[in-house]
Amino acid sequence: MIVMKFGGTSVADCAAITRTISIVQSKLGQKPVVVVSALSKVTDLLYRIADQASVRNRLETAELLEQLRSRHIGLAHDLMSENPSYCHKACSSVNEICDNLDTFVSAVCALGELSDRSKAVIISTGEYLSSNIICCAMNARGIKTGFMDARKMIVTDKEYLKGEPDTAAIQAKVPAAVSAAYEGNDAVITQGFVSVTADGEPTVLGRGGSDYSASLIGMAIDAAAIEIWTDVDGVRTADPRKVENTKCIERISFEEAAEMAHFGAKVLHPLTIEPAVNKNIPIYVLNSMNPAGKGTVILQNSLIDDGVKSVSFKENILVINIFSTKMINTSGFLKKVFEIFSINKVSVDLISTSEANISVTVDSSQKIDKVVEQLSGFADVFVDSDKSQISVIGKNIINLKGLLQKTFTPLADCKIYMISQGASYVNLSFVVDRSDLTDAVRQIHKYLFENESSN
Ligand code: ADP
Ligand code: ASP
Ligand code: MG
Repeated sequence: MIVMKFGGTSVADCAAITRTISIVQSKLGQKPVVVVSALSKVTDLLYRIADQASVRNRLETAELLEQLRSRHIGLAHDLMSENPSYCHKACSSVNEICDNLDTFVSAVCALGELSDRSKAVIISTGEYLSSNIICCAMNARGIKTGFMDARKMIVTDKEYLKGEPDTAAIQAKVPAAVSAAYEGNDAVITQGFVSVTADGEPTVLGRGGSDYSASLIGMAIDAAAIEIWTDVDGVRTADPRKVENTKCIERISFEEAAEMAHFGAKVLHPLTIEPAVNKNIPIYVLNSMNPAGKGTVILQNSLIDDGVKSVSFKENILVINIFSTKMINTSGFLKKVFEIFSINKVSVDLISTSEANISVTVDSSQKIDKVVEQLSGFADVFVDSDKSQISVIGKNIINLKGLLQKTFTPLADCKIYMISQGASYVNLSFVVDRSDLTDAVRQIHKYLFENESSN
């Protein structure tokens, strides 16, 4: 069996879904488990609906809900114009899901209060809409496809908007759900992103979480491969939206891919790699608009050459600077500081210390108010929000002659605030002013990947 995950742009409209279905059709011999995201931009729309409902803006929510319904009904008609019975089935599912959402959103509007649990219900609707329509469209094209509800198998804790998967429960539930759905069928389909607590409460895996769903399912069924179908030719040497002349990386290691994703490369959800590593399942990153392309394969470390693979970045990070004279010559200070991060579930990316100062970077999506408040009890704390983080990633980069020179030479005019080389030798990261980011990333990329004579 293989898992095939199709992201938002691969299921954006009739043309994209038609392409996606033919890709699945070409792999029926490998028994695909298809995992789909919401149509492109639909999750953003659902976030807006949730936000407007929480401030009781009925007019705006009604208009947005109508946009949601009409886009999906229109899509069902476009996809199944020649097959009225499947078109009718898909439209009934869309109407039922949208009716339920309307009722739910009205209740939120009436209360003017939105819990994380309710938000999880709203934002996961996109995946239910897309998976129902695509399931009908596959059946309408003669691919007998079984439907699976991710909320019957992807179990997490109660962190409603970024659930932590319960791997044991997932491993116990997924294989049985997949074989039941496969009975009499050529393929099965389910929702990415969507999950549930052990008590049946709705959760989601966090933004971009469909990749993570795919690898969790792959792990649970011992898949031969996990395929992440997206809108670019594989994992590239940098984000092609920011940098010109990027190259497709043919092979990278699990470790390199995890570092890239964790340090900003949006092509994969940061946690996608972990479940695959444990079972040594290759992950392919492929382009649904160019299915003949080779894409990138992510494999175990021993099969990968040393060398720089990519430059990733996080555009918007927070640098927390902690000053205290009590730090000098005392033991236990670091413990006290990092306990506060841990208790408040704020994860730290980079750390640098000097005698009376600790600086750490954290992703700007995290809530740090309580951390700052608690640290301020015993230290002076300053938060800098105008910074970006750049990471040069590759296996054993420590062995590369002149890496630091190559990385920093093009940055001669740019202030560099923190530098950290991970002990795993896979990652060299540093912090720059946000205003310098684009230029810095382009210059480093040029120097490392486009200037062959300097490598
Ligand atoms: P999907 O909707 O298929 O999940 P995403 O938008 O989440 O797609 O991820 C694909 C995007 O990731 C690409 O369009 C690209 O702009 C971005 N990206 C960032 N860094 C990289 C990289 N190193 N290689 C490839 N794509 C990258
Ligand atoms: N639809 C979700 C999002 O936009 C999950 C995903 O696309 O992976 O974040
Ligand atoms: Mg994605």
